[in-house]
Amino acid sequence: MTIDLIADKVRTGERVSADEALELYRRAPTALLGQLADLIRARRHPGGVVTYIIDRNVNYTNVCVAKCNFCAFYRPVGSAEGYVLGFEDVFRKIDETIEVGGGQLLLQGGHNPDLPLAWYEDLFRAVKERYPDFKLHALSPPEVIHLSRLSELPVPEVIDRLIAAGLDSIPGGGAEILVDRVRRLLHCYGKATADEWIDVMRHAHRAGLRTTATMMYGTVETDAERIEHLIRLRALQDESGGFTAFIAWSYQPERTELAGTEATGIDYLRTLATARIVLDNIDNLQASWVTQGGKVGQLSLAFGANDMGSVMIEENVVRAAGASYCMDEAEIVRNIEDAGFAAKRRNMHYDILGDPVFRDRDVPRMLELATARGDGGPAMPSELRLYPARSQAAKAARADGTAS
Ligand code: SF4
Repeated sequence: MTIDLIADKVRTGERVSADEALELYRRAPTALLGQLADLIRARRHPGGVVTYIIDRNVNYTNVCVAKCNFCAFYRPVGSAEGYVLGFEDVFRKIDETIEVGGGQLLLQGGHNPDLPLAWYEDLFRAVKERYPDFKLHALSPPEVIHLSRLSELPVPEVIDRLIAAGLDSIPGGGAEILVDRVRRLLHCYGKATADEWIDVMRHAHRAGLRTTATMMYGTVETDAERIEHLIRLRALQDESGGFTAFIAWSYQPERTELAGTEATGIDYLRTLATARIVLDNIDNLQASWVTQGGKVGQLSLAFGANDMGSVMIEENVVRAAGASYCMDEAEIVRNIEDAGFAAKRRNMHYDILGDPVFRDRDVPRMLELATARGDGGPAMPSELRLYPARSQAAKAARADGTAS
């Protein structure tokens, strides 16, 4: 089929096949891809509103046994640079988030063999006890699988237990590209196969949770595999309807074992627009300004994105791989309004919460990103001694209280 015929199909709202999407991604002029994606955005989100959320991205540990070769964030078990946040650290981060008008933590971390399921349950319960209305958008599918293996409980039971402890929704991290050939090359097949990732999301949706879906592109995948990833997400969404949003970001190569070069800004915009066209059953597309920078992030709003994601109070993972962009609420709103849209705050369900907080009251400007352990803090939070360790390194550390 020619590009013109496929474009007509998109304009009339017909679903495109994988082959048609691939043809568009590879050959359609960038301006045409943008027009088509923008048409879909405007149809789905009439009224010219672009949303954002005030939440905080917290990485509770960087100790990880998965060792994905694209990751610059993790430290192996026993590393002197490994950390686990204490419950008090998390409470302080929540207090700071509330101070700037936020209501949610995005909580993700490494696959730390020395943090049992009970640690997560206790943390979630402690958060909910102190902050009953505060939301926990936590633990991507590979972390859930890790906990399932660690606790020897099936995934649905782990999800049920986490929900009972206070889990509100699941972030779509760890999807990378949902094709096992790619996952083997990225050393992330072991943490979750494509089917396993999809299966966690299926169970989460069945359990009543809403989740997001992501894609990290620009490593070793082919164009066709990038499209296959989108088609897999679309198929699950047809079945369960549980995805609220899709977020694509480009691989950040600095300080990673895989190395290589980063995809370009045009590739990002073409990928985003193609995703907007393929994912005809997912309502929201986020702009990934955290990896692309504010300017390309703003351009995303003309290529299918209707959401600017989260203000960035803290970031550890992308920064470890060399990218460090920071925008607080005032800056996000400036970018949205300058692109001709009305800026509205939302929650994880994409319900509109209202106008920008900083227009109502004074909030501290955040012109620098915080880090997970910005103020140092003890190497081993005291409550860790309450939980059994598995690794020799952690057993020794917990016995003498020197490190996590
Ligand atoms: S991407 Fe996640 S699972 Fe993979 S090594 Fe990094 S922290 Fe571990």
